Amino acid sequence: MTFGSTRGMSKGYSFSDAVLRGIAPDGGLFIPDDFYVYDSFQLSELSTMDYKSLACEIFSHYATDFTKEEIQRCVDNAYTNMDVKLTSVNGYLNVLELWHGPTAAFKDMALQILPEFMSVALTKNNRHEKIAILTATSGDTGSAALKGFKDVPGIKLMVFYPAHGVSQMQKQQMVTQEGSNLKVVAVEGNFDDAQTGVKNIFANYEFSQRMMERGYSLSSANSINIGRLLPQVVYYFYAYFLMCKKGVVSFGTKINFAVPTGNFGNILACYYAKKCGLPINKIICATNDNNVVSDFMNSGTYDANRKFMETISPAMDILISSNLERLLYDMTGSNSQSVTDMMVSLKSKGVYSVDKSTMDNISTHFWSSYATQEDCIRTIKSVYDRYGYLIDPHTSVGFDVYDKYVISTGDTTKTVTVSTASPFKFNKTVSDSIFGEKDTEQMNEFEILKYLSTKTGNQIPWPFKDLDKKKVLHNKVCNKNDMMKEVDEFCSK
Ligand SMILES: *Cc1c(COP(=O)(O)O)cnc(C)c1O
Repeated sequence: MTFGSTRGMSKGYSFSDAVLRGIAPDGGLFIPDDFYVYDSFQLSELSTMDYKSLACEIFSHYATDFTKEEIQRCVDNAYTNMDVKLTSVNGYLNVLELWHGPTAAFKDMALQILPEFMSVALTKNNRHEKIAILTATSGDTGSAALKGFKDVPGIKLMVFYPAHGVSQMQKQQMVTQEGSNLKVVAVEGNFDDAQTGVKNIFANYEFSQRMMERGYSLSSANSINIGRLLPQVVYYFYAYFLMCKKGVVSFGTKINFAVPTGNFGNILACYYAKKCGLPINKIICATNDNNVVSDFMNSGTYDANRKFMETISPAMDILISSNLERLLYDMTGSNSQSVTDMMVSLKSKGVYSVDKSTMDNISTHFWSSYATQEDCIRTIKSVYDRYGYLIDPHTSVGFDVYDKYVISTGDTTKTVTVSTASPFKFNKTVSDSIFGEKDTEQMNEFEILKYLSTKTGNQIPWPFKDLDKKKVLHNKVCNKNDMMKEVDEFCSK
């Protein structure tokens, strides 16, 4: 299997190449030349597999320059501390909990294995470089990447986070992270400052040449990497089979998925699962107040010229939804010229439109709407009051939009709602939504953690236990103009 670009100019890359490069040389995103489509007989064989075997089976069709043993090793290393659960709420709502990993958010599902893929990829084609990964984070990506890349041979990771823009829990997860190949630096500024700083470093040719001379090639671990996307396809298969095993649907019956969406990675993986033969009816795309993607799916015009909103579901606060480019490629019938035109227009004017046939294709697979912050708060409370089930603010967006879908369409197809973070990771919002702000006004997030656990009788997830007692290992703060200097120092050894 080789990989080409959504923009059509780059072709014939191996899985290793695609994973190490992250972005295609023509500026597009890597996509496999084919998708392996399972028939119903094969699906029934997959349905008996455990998570690891299923992952190996699916990867074997794409990571074709890896040996079977290498794939197996990646999977074994990645998915030891992880679990995927399908919880049935009141026999009606089926929730796919993807947050039973080391940082209690779904990004672990991909960021536990991407470093393993990269590490094996480095051994291919006589590569001699080391990799330095640079990431700017608003919280979830940074902590998940740090856990994933910890002590991976040949790879270093540096995370920049906004000094005053992440939650106390997220910050504590990052600054206490052990690992000889890691560095975490706070940037004086907001997330945009951190992200712009990282982008400027990547765009500085002279700097990357200098790093190359020292044996380092700079790379990123963001969600457009095909090595992050592929692992996300696995849990849609797994969820479907769990729905069958639990007797919610009979084997072969189509189901819906409702997915809280930001950069369009998670939901694109759902669409890819459908493309590979999984019986999926509608994919419900749920966005927050930054509803650029749901507007697009309903109007055919993507317009990023709007005010950026900081919401209580920060991991979905996004105006440029990068992975959508891969969907556009499919929905235009693999028309890379038209994708290129749209992306050029997005970059220069912040806007593009698609034609009617593309819109029709999108509507065949997707339905989309958004949840305001008020919707989100109300839903957290009502789900808890009615079912005693706690959801985080991102998951709440999915729940609310699924409600809107049912009201709007009357569709009674059985549906899985994807839950992307533990409610304890966003404990202040969850607690305020359900119990009001009064009790917790004077508490810090660690105290609220205990408060929420006591009030609801839910156990605190293991990644947060004693987190407040862990030793701070990273306390560097830098000016946004000094980020390159920090990278320079990091790559001096
Ligand atoms: C990143 C993230 C999302 C958005 O996922 P995308 O793949 O970017 O669409 C949703 N919820 C949580 C908790 C996240 O961390």
